[in-house]
Amino acid sequence: MVVAATRSVPEECIRLEDPKAGLDGYIVIHSTARGPAAGGCRFWTYDAPEAALADAMRLAEGMSYKNASAELPLGGGKSVIRRPAGDFDRKALFEAFGEAVERLGGRYVTAEDVGTTIADMEAIATNTRHVAGRTARPGFAGGDPSPWTALGVFEAMKAAAKLRFGGSLAGTTVAVQGVGSVGGRLARLLAEEGAKLVLADIDGARASALAEELGAQLASIDTIAGIACDVFAPCALGGALDGATVAGLKAGLVCGAANNQLATPEMAQALAARSILYAPDYVVNAGGIINVAAEYLGESEDQVRGRVLAIGPRTAGILEMAEAEGLTSSAVADREAEAKMRRPEVAETA
Ligand code: NAD
Repeated sequence: MVVAATRSVPEECIRLEDPKAGLDGYIVIHSTARGPAAGGCRFWTYDAPEAALADAMRLAEGMSYKNASAELPLGGGKSVIRRPAGDFDRKALFEAFGEAVERLGGRYVTAEDVGTTIADMEAIATNTRHVAGRTARPGFAGGDPSPWTALGVFEAMKAAAKLRFGGSLAGTTVAVQGVGSVGGRLARLLAEEGAKLVLADIDGARASALAEELGAQLASIDTIAGIACDVFAPCALGGALDGATVAGLKAGLVCGAANNQLATPEMAQALAARSILYAPDYVVNAGGIINVAAEYLGESEDQVRGRVLAIGPRTAGILEMAEAEGLTSSAVADREAEAKMRRPEVAETA
């Protein structure tokens, strides 16, 4: 797991230590300026507590930016629990974590992240109500966030394509890297829109089945990023855009669901230098957190849809500002999110 330095100091770091329950980790509250610090619980193998803390700090900061950008009435936080080495009682561990969340009195709201499941959220919920990502209930927002993430990316891609190519996505070629929960749904939306698709997935059978369903072409995972296309959509793992990949891109626009697409911050400049429009990842992939947040905030599906559809114009606005000011889209996205962290009331009424 990559551990990067953070740009700012979090409000609070809470050490989680309950040897009896096997609980060992951290909750990091980066910012509560917009509301309760919201962000998932990562359950992962870390060699040392310091590595878990560094990861939690980096991820919590990222949540502040994502939640502020999406104009949710939430701050940013994250928890990281070190996976015990031997046998352990998973339910007891997450119940103990729920007690720790409850002790914060609502300053932190948890949900799923890498390594945690709906069952873990239910265990947490036995001790606190400050948890989302639970079993879906009919008529309420919640449940699988992937369709909302895919819709947000699709809206962002349509808006960015209009700026970059001056028209709709119909007839353009989109290369989708990773056709899992989000990438697969995105590909279906693009097919309905009339885009031509090139698909790649490490799971070859998954990619072939979808390509057959949608009449798409297939590419290998090694060639997809450099394929001749208009749009490259990274929807697999983070770090898809490194120096070599950026140098080989033929697309004029990058817009996808994956988190942390830029392998290093300098890649934003590298993309701009090649006149490739980059739709910032945390701006375009916020549909999932919007849906998870709605469950906690008691919002309806219509409210979720409204927030997700706003991702399109928001992305266009960032790209236009970047162009007008000679800045990278990442720099503008960060600046806009930081402004919303400082002045939450402006964002609320916007
Ligand atoms: P997923 O696991 O369902 O899908 C990922 C797909 O990528 C899988 O089919 C996998 O086989 C494939 N893959 C892995 N490595 C690959 C490679 N090198 N080349 C091509 N394909 C590869 O995950 P997901 O939920 O669809 O999420 C995709 C990305 O979007 C992740 O980076 C995730 O963090 C991010 N994201 C997801 C959501 C959400 O709502 N699920 C929200 C925000 C961000």
